[in-house]
Amino acid sequence: MTGFDTTAVHAGQEFDPTTGAVIPPVHFSSTYAQDGIGGLRGGYEYGRSGNPTRTALETQLAALEGGAHGVSFASGLAAEDALLRAVLKPGDEVLLGNDVYGGTYRLIARILGPWGVKLRVVEMSDLAAVEAALAESPAKILWVETPSNPLLKISDIAGLARLGRAAGALVVVDNTFASPALQQPLALGADVVVHSTTKYLGGHSDVVGGALVLNDDALAEQVRFLQFAAGAVSGPMDAWLTTRGIKTLGIRMQRHSENGQAVAEFLAAHPKVARVYYPGLSSHPGHDLAARQMAGFGGIVSVALTDAAAARRFAESTRVFTLAESLGGVESLVNYPDEMTHASVRGTELAVPPEVVRLSVGIESIDDLIADLGQALGAL
Ligand SMILES: *Cc1c(COP(=O)(O)O)cnc(C)c1O
Repeated sequence: MTGFDTTAVHAGQEFDPTTGAVIPPVHFSSTYAQDGIGGLRGGYEYGRSGNPTRTALETQLAALEGGAHGVSFASGLAAEDALLRAVLKPGDEVLLGNDVYGGTYRLIARILGPWGVKLRVVEMSDLAAVEAALAESPAKILWVETPSNPLLKISDIAGLARLGRAAGALVVVDNTFASPALQQPLALGADVVVHSTTKYLGGHSDVVGGALVLNDDALAEQVRFLQFAAGAVSGPMDAWLTTRGIKTLGIRMQRHSENGQAVAEFLAAHPKVARVYYPGLSSHPGHDLAARQMAGFGGIVSVALTDAAAARRFAESTRVFTLAESLGGVESLVNYPDEMTHASVRGTELAVPPEVVRLSVGIESIDDLIADLGQALGAL
C-alpha cells in the first residue's frame, strides 16, 4: 500500500498529457464542447455537474480517507447539508454529540427542524449513554465529532460504529479536527466522513470548502445528485487551492501536533490557567483512546481561565496568535467560542463555558508561540 504522504502528493495529480505540465492546469471553464449532441470528450458537460480540477480534489480526498467516493462542496456546511438531505426524511431523527461544531447544530435545528427532522443530543464520548439513547428511540444518523469542537472530547469511533450498525443508524464522523493524517474513521467502521476542508486540509486559511468521503455506492450517488441538483459545488480555484494545501498535510499535522503538545504542557503548568483541554495530556479523560485511535493529537488546544473576563482579556492580548474565527491554518489563531464560533449555540445544551478560549496552534517556531501566550497570561 502506498504511504499517506505519497498519496497526498500524487493522488489525482497526473501531469498534463498535452503540455507535460507537472501540475495539472486549473480548468476555468463553465461548459465543455460536445462532438455532436451528447458527444462528451471527457465525461464533462457543465461546470456544476463536473470539473476536472474538482475531480482531482475528490480523487485526492477519497484516497486519503481510504474511501471509494469523495464529493467536494463549497463549504463544510454545504457538504453536511447535502448529506443530511440525501439521508433524512421528515420524522427522522439525528443523534448528535453534545460538543459538535455550532453550525452543525444550527443547520439541523433551524433549517432541517422546520422540515420535520428531529434532533437529540447525547454525550457521544460515553458509549453506554449512546446505547441507551439508541434504545430509547431509533436514530437515522449518529453524528460524531472527535476530537470535538471546542472541548476536545474523544469518542470511540469503532465502538460507535458497532452501536450505530446494530441500531440501523448511519455513522457520520466529522473528521475536521484530526484530518485523515491523524485519524481515518472509515477504517474504524464509520459510514461517512465529513470535512470542513477550510481547516487543516486546505491548511492556509485562504479557501472555504467541504467534503464527504464514503464507500456506499448508492448513498454516494444520492449525495452526488444533491451536489449537482442543489449546486453547492466548489469552484475550480477553490478546488485547486485545497489540493495544493493537502499535499503538505502530513508534515503540517506533525508540526501542529508537536506545537500543540508543547503549548498544552506550558499552559497546564501555568498558575493563571484553570484547565487545559488537549487529548495529548495524560490527564485528559480521552487520552488513552486518542492514543489508540489517532496518529497524533493535533493542533487545537482549549483552555479555561479563572472566569469569562480573564478569558476575554487573554484572547485579546496575544500578538502572534491572531484573534479570529476558524482554525487549522499554518498561522496560530485564538478564538473566544462563546461569542465567536459558538455564538449560535449560546443558551442551548451545546453552549461553551464562557471562561474557555480555543487556540489553533500553528506551525510557527514554538518558542515564539509560548512567549506570546506567556506575555498574554502575564497581563491578566
Ligand atoms: C468549520 C467547521 C465546520 C463547517 O465548515 P465550513 O467550511 O465553515 O462550512 C464543520 N465542522 C467543524 C468541526 C468545523 O470546524
